Amino acid sequence: MDDLRIRLGQRPVVEGLSFDVEAGERVCLIGPSGSGKSLTAGAILGLTPPAARIDGTIRLNGLEVGGLRATRRPALARAGMVFQNTQAALNPLVSVGAQLREPFLRFHGLSRREAQRAVVALLGRMMIAEPERVVRRSPAELSGGQRQRVCLALALACRPSLIVADEPTTALDVLTQAEVLSLLRETTGTADTPALLFISHDMAAASRLCERALVLDGGRLVEQGPLADIIAAPQHRFSRELVAALG
Ligand code: ADP
Ligand code: MG
Repeated sequence: MDDLRIRLGQRPVVEGLSFDVEAGERVCLIGPSGSGKSLTAGAILGLTPPAARIDGTIRLNGLEVGGLRATRRPALARAGMVFQNTQAALNPLVSVGAQLREPFLRFHGLSRREAQRAVVALLGRMMIAEPERVVRRSPAELSGGQRQRVCLALALACRPSLIVADEPTTALDVLTQAEVLSLLRETTGTADTPALLFISHDMAAASRLCERALVLDGGRLVEQGPLADIIAAPQHRFSRELVAALG
């Protein structure tokens, strides 16, 4: 990302953001509420509100995608996404299996039977008990933690080179948070799994997942570097507050 600027009407909300996420890397983007994290995520994914004006360069796998909506992007420039609100991310009227089958049919050319099998195997990898039964359920019948596992499965099924996870554990109870963090850890950040941009204001969660951190405040990058260094000696006011909260 090079010099990303986002305006909503006349109001600048992201002002000149530049950073890289390398293949197989896990990076966290942290910052206070309203600092522009979700709009930045939206710009990477091609999912910003229509009123947003995006300038600057965003490249995924070397392909420029800055102005391209998610649905218009070529396969190589697709990023997977995981959000806080799992209710809104899945269709309650379509079974878990049917939603998860879709990327296998659409992007990987599998037959229905093969897709079915791939879905059950993927849900097993997500540590979902009884995947053969879960595929027949509506997302509305699952717990928040199960739904977030399904959302991660959906993101992984598209085989993106990057997953953007925008506060994926904020809505979950503490135990489920830990499980989803472990799962993110196991499924991203290696040579043959996607890179991860983990958006959070939970320093403890970030430090379990990411080596490197970007700190955003007021739409600008105010601090960045190895997370261990930031925790040892935070420079910016917000990083200091988060580190102090770690106790
Ligand atoms: P964060 O995710 O860091 O909490 P956001 O990226 O959601 O922050 O928002 C950055 C700023 O842009 C905030 O001031 C927010 O109120 C504003 N904003 C975000 N989305 C919209 C929208 N759809 N319409 C108007 N303002 C928005
Ligand atoms: Mg947000």
